[in-house]
Amino acid sequence: MAKPRAPRRTLDSYTIKSINKTIKPGDCVLMRPSEPSKPPYVARVEKIEADARGGHARVHVRWYYRPEESIGGRRQFHGSKEVFLSDHFDVQSADTIEGKCTVHSFKSYTKLDAVGDNDFFCRFEYNSATGAFTPDRVAVYCKCEMPYNPDDLMVQCEGCSDWFHPACIDMTAEEAKRLDHFFCHNCSPDEQKQLQNSHVSPRHSDTKVDTKRRRRG
Ligand SMILES: [Zn+2]
Ligand SMILES: [Zn+2]
Repeated sequence: MAKPRAPRRTLDSYTIKSINKTIKPGDCVLMRPSEPSKPPYVARVEKIEADARGGHARVHVRWYYRPEESIGGRRQFHGSKEVFLSDHFDVQSADTIEGKCTVHSFKSYTKLDAVGDNDFFCRFEYNSATGAFTPDRVAVYCKCEMPYNPDDLMVQCEGCSDWFHPACIDMTAEEAKRLDHFFCHNCSPDEQKQLQNSHVSPRHSDTKVDTKRRRRG
């Protein structure tokens, strides 16, 4: 009973006049959200189609979810620019595209010299029905045993190669940035002694860092 549809054709690329940008399948785009107060939706263009005259362009997209949009919500280790590649596909008018963006791998994101407004990263795929992530396990670091949040500064121990949040080892971010060398409690014999003293004065981080720097500098 469906109305006969005008034949549609698949396009290799399409220029969105309002933003003067050409999109192609595989590109990541920002799309106008249903509520103006929300950040734009992030999607990957899978296919572009238009009517026989090249009008009424529509994009087949695969949505990226922001942590807030996932069933589990935003967790402490989620980066501010983190998105999850979902199993949720849609067809939208190409007019709702507000701009192009880049969704980096986790590794390449952490190597960016500067993170622009349109840079995102993805390390998980997300099942929108169950809320499950792939991979379902991820490496954890520090005493707090959290996955790495690229927004958070961490320092690496030269002994065990584990990474630590400055706050978790009684250090300020400024102190951590000044460190040339760092050994965690388990890897430094000096620290073992300090650890015992720490019952008396648990906040001894300033002295500790300075001593270490002087000794090694
Ligand atoms: Zn920590
Ligand atoms: Zn260590």
